[in-house]
Amino acid sequence: MSQKIITRFAPSPTGQLHIGSVRTALFNFLYTRKHGGKFILRIEDTDKERSKKEFETDIIEGLSWLGLGYDELYRQSDRGEIYKNYIEKMLSDGSIYQADDKVIRFKNPNKKVKFNDLIRGEIEFDTTELKDFVIAKSADEPLYHLAVVIDDFESGITHVIRGEDHISNTPRQILIQEAIGAARPLYVHLPLILAQDRSKLSKRKHGESVSLNYYRSKGYSAKAIINYLALLGWNPGTEQEIFTLEELIKVFDFSRVHKGGAIFDEKKLAWVARKHFNLAKLREK
Ligand code: GLU
Repeated sequence: MSQKIITRFAPSPTGQLHIGSVRTALFNFLYTRKHGGKFILRIEDTDKERSKKEFETDIIEGLSWLGLGYDELYRQSDRGEIYKNYIEKMLSDGSIYQADDKVIRFKNPNKKVKFNDLIRGEIEFDTTELKDFVIAKSADEPLYHLAVVIDDFESGITHVIRGEDHISNTPRQILIQEAIGAARPLYVHLPLILAQDRSKLSKRKHGESVSLNYYRSKGYSAKAIINYLALLGWNPGTEQEIFTLEELIKVFDFSRVHKGGAIFDEKKLAWVARKHFNLAKLREK
């Protein structure tokens, strides 16, 4: 590929950095570093009620502790003018309109949207059922879908690498891209991380054990967490299980990312951690 790869990790600062988000950040990081691209951290704080500065700090600090460096950082809350310009332009070209309930809705062309996901293959949606969905509360308050599409376009994102829970958001985002004349990025939806009972790993159900801080405070090293998370949904195609970040950058590829959900197993994490611990001790000698 001759085009420079540009990716983003786009967490919402509405809670402590989730272990699944760390895995998303890691796969973005590995792929981007492998191909000499640019990796952006985008803080998605359009939800003013739920977004908190302390969670943003937690995300930034967590990534830094893990050694997942990024090339650029921006916040959606600093980009109001950019969104407003798009909203005004779209209102005047008729692709969005102010509805009777005062919110701004997207004029759905009601069509079939087909996209190719690098992991899941071809996905087709009929957008009719989405109706004329709301994309902004007002010209000053864009909602998630609009902000994501504008930011991805303005940043020249080539690969949208994110959790599988965003597959159902993709058709709306593609419709918005088409309305603003944005190029379509490649989509890479990563398998969910599941708890032992195969339910989605969520804070509501599984409490603090879904956060990076939980594992940090238990004493797991950054090296062990990175190594273990790499194996959640990906395999190297060899017997090797213990990797440094540098080694992962060399061998990582989407062709070995699985479709099925990956079960989080703390026993395996502990095993990986012991291996790294022993390696570190060997090096000290
Ligand atoms: N902000 C979204 C989240 O926290 C991610 C959006 C995206 O990757 O497109 O889940």
